[in-house]
Amino acid sequence: MNRPYNFSAGPAAMPDEVLAQAAAEMLGWHGSGMGVMEMSHRGKEFGQIYQEAEADLRELLAVPANFKLLFMQGGGLAENAIVPLNLSRGETVDFVVTGSWSQKSAQEAARYCTAHEAANTRADGHTSLPDPSTWQLSERSAYVHVCSNETINGVEYPELPDLKTLGCVAPLVIDFSSHVASRPVDWSRVGLAFGGAQKNLGPAGLTLVAVREDLLERALPICPSAFNYKTVADNGSMYNTPPTYAIYMAGLVFKWLKQQGGMVAIEARNIAKAKLLYDCIDASKLYVNRVQKNCRSRMNVPFYLKDAQGHLLLDAEHPLNSAFLAGAKAAGLLQLKGHKSVGGMRASIYNAIPLEGVQALVTFMQAFEARHA
Ligand SMILES: *Cc1c(COP(=O)(O)O)cnc(C)c1O
Repeated sequence: MNRPYNFSAGPAAMPDEVLAQAAAEMLGWHGSGMGVMEMSHRGKEFGQIYQEAEADLRELLAVPANFKLLFMQGGGLAENAIVPLNLSRGETVDFVVTGSWSQKSAQEAARYCTAHEAANTRADGHTSLPDPSTWQLSERSAYVHVCSNETINGVEYPELPDLKTLGCVAPLVIDFSSHVASRPVDWSRVGLAFGGAQKNLGPAGLTLVAVREDLLERALPICPSAFNYKTVADNGSMYNTPPTYAIYMAGLVFKWLKQQGGMVAIEARNIAKAKLLYDCIDASKLYVNRVQKNCRSRMNVPFYLKDAQGHLLLDAEHPLNSAFLAGAKAAGLLQLKGHKSVGGMRASIYNAIPLEGVQALVTFMQAFEARHA
């Protein structure tokens, strides 16, 4: 099966092997006579699927025993409300705004608590990471929120901030939607991590939350029961019907990731993929990525084409951009159009994109540049 390479930012490419296995099991899972979508979430068949998915993810990400893994719904945007409802106590929360997603998180949290911007890289168009020593953290904050990979702006923390070294005792909350399972997680620095599945784990509809146990008892009284982390944890993510099929698909992805060698091997592969693409962009006269080199995302690579005067072609409808996208599509390279808020192009090179996919993109980009020079 030779499918085109799909660079969508999300919902995004899935490994061929996973889709093929899901197709083979569609009408009947493991001799049960039932497809996974048709199973009770409380039956023993789905129970096995759930247990394996949770255990595989715990092993893959080396999640410590004092963290609960919750399989929720609502996506990253719902968590922007659910986290403050559970952790803020209605007090002050610090946000480090490094792009569109952390900005949205701060805006939504302001409905439930005092959302304080400890830093904001708006001035440089969200192309950098402010050094943690410059963050204006509040005296007493309920937690500190960062987006550890900004999907739209292409800014990634090379390592998670260590709040303790800043004299801050508040827990760190990370939105790791778009780079979860692309590299190991240093859980010693994290209180809570959340992410939608549709970037790097599986289908839309599943939201992963990893929360340290001591943070489970702080919810505001108005927090909806189905979104109360303690209620969800106490019920093994089955307080209400979880997104069963999405959990099954994510579980297949977890097994696939283990077969690929786990997080250390996956990270090495992602580093090589990102280097190939950034090297191509940096060596070119046609393409540019504006993010500072110390915080370029390994997963989401936004780039612009330039005109002869060196101006960025922001407008997606510019003839050269249209020609680029049409040529890419003809070459079997799909969904490279940038996010509408920033324009240009974006290649999302999540785990399911192999090195050969990035190589194919680079080959196309070089040929396109040669043709249009
Ligand atoms: C995609 C994304 C979200 C939003 O997820 P939804 O599932 O659409 O709510 C939030 N944060 C980040 C970093 C994302 O990439």
